[in-house]
Amino acid sequence: MKVLVGQFITESNANIPLKNNVGSFKMLFGDDCIDGMHIREVFEQRDVEIVPSILADAGASGVIERAAFEYIEHEFVNAVRTHIHEIDGMLLMLHGASEVDGVGSGDHHILNAIREVVGEYLPIFVVCDPHGNLCESYVRQTTLIRSYRESPHTDSIATLQKVAGWLCDFLLNRQNIHSVYRKLPLILGGEQSVSTDEPVRSINSYMDKMEKDPRIRSCSWHVGYIRHDSDVAGCGIVVVPQNEADQGYAEQKADELAAYVWDRRHEFHYTGVAAMPDRAFEMALAFGGQPVFITDSGDNVTSGATGWNTYILRQAIERAESNVGLNRRLLFANICDPVCYDVLSGLDEGDSAHISLGVGFDDMSQPVELDVHVRSRGPLRGYLHHPHDAHYGDAVVVSVDGMPIDVSVASTRQAMCERHQFEAVGLNWGDYDVVVVKQGYLFPELKEAAAFSVMSLTLGTTPQDTKIIPFKRILRPMYPIDDI
Ligand SMILES: [Zn+2]
Repeated sequence: MKVLVGQFITESNANIPLKNNVGSFKMLFGDDCIDGMHIREVFEQRDVEIVPSILADAGASGVIERAAFEYIEHEFVNAVRTHIHEIDGMLLMLHGASEVDGVGSGDHHILNAIREVVGEYLPIFVVCDPHGNLCESYVRQTTLIRSYRESPHTDSIATLQKVAGWLCDFLLNRQNIHSVYRKLPLILGGEQSVSTDEPVRSINSYMDKMEKDPRIRSCSWHVGYIRHDSDVAGCGIVVVPQNEADQGYAEQKADELAAYVWDRRHEFHYTGVAAMPDRAFEMALAFGGQPVFITDSGDNVTSGATGWNTYILRQAIERAESNVGLNRRLLFANICDPVCYDVLSGLDEGDSAHISLGVGFDDMSQPVELDVHVRSRGPLRGYLHHPHDAHYGDAVVVSVDGMPIDVSVASTRQAMCERHQFEAVGLNWGDYDVVVVKQGYLFPELKEAAAFSVMSLTLGTTPQDTKIIPFKRILRPMYPIDDI
């Protein structure tokens, strides 16, 4: 037997002034595509031959230019056309949160285009990110669609492998089934749906139990994505029956799961401590232990922000220059500024420089003038399922003269989510009292190391208050924008 595999990942934040062209994507073909999806062993152990199409990954980023998308979609469809005579099914990883200029959801468009070639019956199993957007017609076109359970996505590879195994089982015992979808009039940010916290923990264990039901093959819930305006935004749930005879039963279980999530809508909340920027900064400075982490949640690079905001850095400088002074040692990891990075990249460790840090695109990224000396440097590495030895760009760490402030100035936007990333640029978070990172919820290794952490509710391209985001195209009424 043969399965075709492919992967398409882009979270399109329409608020940032960057668009994805072909060069924005990591693209892998052939064996590299298979290995990049981490599913080779699952299929080979079952004697299933793998036909690769394309792996295209721009991560959390901007809207996609049409030409770039058309190229990627062509690679998917062309592979399907070439191998249609020999494939028995497909395993696709379609993130779900892409937006293409003039097209809408790229994920939905790709699946449509593939169904146009293969018709409605060829098994297509889709793995997706819970921060992707679904709709009735999209879900209906999948044989099975299943999202990761955990946020942050510590189970992304395990989920791909699990669903690959399910596809192998399915090909040995074909059933005429399709996924059942329920849309919820509920819109949430990722920072209110961390899986180690309630109500997501209870929802996950409810679904794990449901998946043990012999008449249910899979179920998942989908947070959705809120960084571009779209009629497919909002939460949803999916239930997939075991056999054709269970299709009606799956409809019933879908209603139950939808009701279970909906009844918990008032329980979604920011995980941990969240506060307005001034209060968050004071709380971090006042805490006795170290390290304390502040997340700059309005500039959350893991959700597509640019990582170039200097707002919290300016809070720190203002404090250092005030009568009160700054008596804690601070690290900013990172602030993205390619021009400032270029100036620093020619210097040696210990060299002094006068820099202007901040790209000056808007109020949040206003530049600051600083006298600094170079402390260390190194490559920007990947986190979670992104290759840890990848070289996304570089950073130079500088110490600000006369202030207890170090800044990692990055050549590109990259979130620092794991210890090895800090070490790669010569940093140890244990050397600091307060570390400011470009995330929303704190990633697991940082959370474990943190004596205390606070999410600063800064403005930027990833604001946390969904009520202030001017959606025009979403379903209404929608909780919590409308009082349902
Ligand atoms: Zn996600």
